[in-house]
Amino acid sequence: MAKKNISILGSTGSIGVNALKVCSNLRNDFKVRYISGYNNYRLLAAQAKLYKPDFVVTSDTNYMNVKKRLKGFKSVILCGDEGLKRAAQDDKVSVVVNAIVGSFGLKPTVYAAEKGKNICLANKESLVMAGSVIKKIMKRTGSSIVPIDSEHSAMLQALNGEDRSTLEKIILTASGGPFRNRKGSLRNVTVQEALDHPNWSMGNKITIDSATLMNKGFELIEAVHLFDIPPSKIEIVIHPESIIHSMMQFIDGSVIAQMGLPDMKIPIQYALTHPGRTHLDQPRLDLAKISKMTFYKPDRKKFPALGLAEAAAKEGGTLPVVLNTVNEIMVYKFLDGKVKFTDIIKSVEKEMRDHRNKKEPSIEDIFELSGELWKKLN
Ligand code: NAD
Ligand code: MG
Repeated sequence: MAKKNISILGSTGSIGVNALKVCSNLRNDFKVRYISGYNNYRLLAAQAKLYKPDFVVTSDTNYMNVKKRLKGFKSVILCGDEGLKRAAQDDKVSVVVNAIVGSFGLKPTVYAAEKGKNICLANKESLVMAGSVIKKIMKRTGSSIVPIDSEHSAMLQALNGEDRSTLEKIILTASGGPFRNRKGSLRNVTVQEALDHPNWSMGNKITIDSATLMNKGFELIEAVHLFDIPPSKIEIVIHPESIIHSMMQFIDGSVIAQMGLPDMKIPIQYALTHPGRTHLDQPRLDLAKISKMTFYKPDRKKFPALGLAEAAAKEGGTLPVVLNTVNEIMVYKFLDGKVKFTDIIKSVEKEMRDHRNKKEPSIEDIFELSGELWKKLN
């Protein structure tokens, strides 16, 4: 069978680097046609030398930096939004991995959906902001989304071969983040403490989202869109060992869980081989060594992000855009030392309270609102 051409957007990030490793493992099935990176032009150029993509996309400001480093190499260098659009819409590309972080990942998802591509989606912010709109586009063009997020990959794997109408409930597991056992106010936690995730090594933004549990709130909204299920049928359970990546409960009371060591290469590869599997040479789960798995309810008072995300999921419209955008702006402010840890969710709550929800926004409404919030809060 001919190899499939693949675009990896955000190849220099935590997911992107792993996606390229997975592509090496699947080199008989996939050819990397595009890679893209924003700031880290040194890594982007090194990846281009190693993986020899036909195109390399970078930011406008790093165009010359990448070009200089790839002198004598065949890859064509593109930049900015136009470059990402080509990577997402190229006729020769059938699979688009979107591993860009944050709201800047939305446009490329829309570009790829418009062209009917198979999207392997790590950028959960796309679905949080515009899940309903993206799904409408997908219906029109025949595009599909396979999740890379480990929880949603677990859900997809647990659903494999099942009749979807027999699904009763989703049990979404959460590690609980670095502050799950911390007593007292989280106001003065430091950036370093918040970046110290117990089980997963990830980019900075999602690591902070995991510390506030906003990441779990986003994942709830992501599941609503991916599996067409109301938020009331998704239960969040803290599972500090991060071995069960989520569970599906069916109408006969059976619960199917997907397990594995916390390694993003597993869900990334599954997204590319779904519904089949290919050998992956990584350490295996040793349950006797893990010895026990624990579960408990999240502390909603300590982590108000969960309630806000549930409210946004229930209301829909433009409220999830506010949830996502204000969170993102505040996370970067926290990382820059400009606000306290608890200010992140406080601001999200305030802006959500003040927002006049628009029920059926267009994609233009969503971009406009997001842009306005960036202006207002910066
Ligand atoms: P990261 O910060 O490590 O990498 C982000 C990538 O996006 C980089 O390649 C960067 O160059 C690119 N990028 C940043 N700003 C950009 C912009 N304005 N335009 C174009 N490209 C830009 O992030 P990550 O941890 O790899 O996460 C990527 C996405 O995957 C996020 O949406 C995250 O929520 C999701 N995700 C990550 C993990 C994980 O284990 N890291 C797990 C599940 C889901
Ligand atoms: Mg996840």
